[in-house]
Amino acid sequence: MSALFGNYGQRRAQIVKGQGTVVEDANGKQYLDFTSGIAVVSLGHAHPAIVKALQAQSEQLWHISNLFDIVGQEKVAQKLVADTHFAHAFFCNSGAEANEAAIKLARKYTGKHHIITFEKSFHGRTFGAMSATGQSKIHNGFGPLVEKFTILPFNDVAALEAAIDDSVAAIMLEMIQGEGGVNSVTPEFATAIATICEEKGILLIVDEVQTGIGRTGTRYAYEQTVLKPTIVTLAKGLGGGFPVGAMLGIAELYDTFNAGTHGTTFGGNPLAMSVAEVVLEHVFEPAFLQQVQELSHYFVEQLTQQLPSSYTIQGKGLLLGIGCGETEVAPYIAQAEEKGLLLVGAGPTVIRLLPPLTVSKSEIDEAVAILKTILL
Ligand SMILES: *Cc1c(COP(=O)(O)O)cnc(C)c1O
Repeated sequence: MSALFGNYGQRRAQIVKGQGTVVEDANGKQYLDFTSGIAVVSLGHAHPAIVKALQAQSEQLWHISNLFDIVGQEKVAQKLVADTHFAHAFFCNSGAEANEAAIKLARKYTGKHHIITFEKSFHGRTFGAMSATGQSKIHNGFGPLVEKFTILPFNDVAALEAAIDDSVAAIMLEMIQGEGGVNSVTPEFATAIATICEEKGILLIVDEVQTGIGRTGTRYAYEQTVLKPTIVTLAKGLGGGFPVGAMLGIAELYDTFNAGTHGTTFGGNPLAMSVAEVVLEHVFEPAFLQQVQELSHYFVEQLTQQLPSSYTIQGKGLLLGIGCGETEVAPYIAQAEEKGLLLVGAGPTVIRLLPPLTVSKSEIDEAVAILKTILL
């Protein structure tokens, strides 16, 4: 009997090291990692610049707390908001925490309680983030949930319009639902949200925990839409594997998160900041983002050409999905692992493809070849 709780179900291979896109298990077997630790290891495993930054910082100072001016926070915050309409950042340790901060900030700023979210969304496992999440399997057994979240069908303009009234503080959504099936916001839905938020003074919280930091081929996924969020939340790819989360907000929100209102002991600690700074130096380079778009284009082209048309290719950038109709994908994922390709699902019937943003074309070719042997 394990000394661990069983909440993660049966675990997969025990991975002991990695370099770039390739990881190795305890038996010495190698795999192409097309999970990136769930969209986290954005620069690949053991990227030399990240290793160097973390080593250097670990010899200086590990932790001091937010009582003090933490080295690196201002720099990372400036990189995150530069050339955006955002003015300020708050650092925490995870995606759920970033969303908790966003929910609290939206309520306090507006003085209203009601937040609209969407079916199949995923916002995290803490109480606020879980209550915002539109999946009953995430809620089961944990009620009562936090009040005043209304969960609407995704991409349904009429349902959204019907739900809007003066009690609504914010609309909260992902640009691409990562956990929920790699479902993108339609342009029509984005336009409707932009109009409603503008006309009614409703805040827009975009959860970019999975889509942010270059994953979809731009710094943030909202940049490819008409939306101008009031708040964006980040985590996964930001630390390249080191746990860190962030919330970005517009200037008008500054006074609401004033001294003593919100905080965290570990958030934005020196180790996390040293790594995030290097991740952003790489990923926010226009040439790097251009490369992500080109790799995405190539990957989508290969999948479309080589897989039967009964499969749907979904998503953007290097957050892609292979929709398998009504077929459950868990056995495919197990077979791929057997053949040396690590994958993760998105909902029961979609295979999610999340290679490091530094993946090569030949690694994409290898992955497609393995996928073909499984899906044909
Ligand atoms: C992973 C994820 C979260 C939760 O992040 P944690 O770091 O696991 O708390 C929230 N929102 C989205 C969109 C995610 O993909």
